[in-house]
Amino acid sequence: MYEASIRKSFSAAHTLDIGGKCEDLHGHNFTVDITVRSQDLDSEGLVVDFRILKGWTDDILNELDHTYLNDLPHFKGLNPSSESVARFIFDRIVEKVRNKNITVSKVTVWESNSAWATYRGTESG
Ligand SMILES: [Zn+2]
Repeated sequence: MYEASIRKSFSAAHTLDIGGKCEDLHGHNFTVDITVRSQDLDSEGLVVDFRILKGWTDDILNELDHTYLNDLPHFKGLNPSSESVARFIFDRIVEKVRNKNITVSKVTVWESNSAWATYRGTESG
């Protein structure tokens, strides 16, 4: 099995209903790592063209960049934690790869270089 990953970033603000300082409005320069996989390579010897994967990711991150995450419909009633953001991006990438010969392995969202969360989806592998 092959895996290919890309890294992108966006900036956003949020508040988290978890007590302490995180309840105050604050922002992060989030880094996002997306990994997709395929059993075989395509005719060009790729899992997926990195440019295509980056393009899909840009489309998704544009929805998040310079927003107050708590205000987005997706996060209504949900803490917009790095975990929730990873799940949101994962589900969106899954929509993009539908009908392609690749699977989304995982999405990792870094809110600093010492704190990150990963969503892997429910299928095995
Ligand atoms: Zn935060």
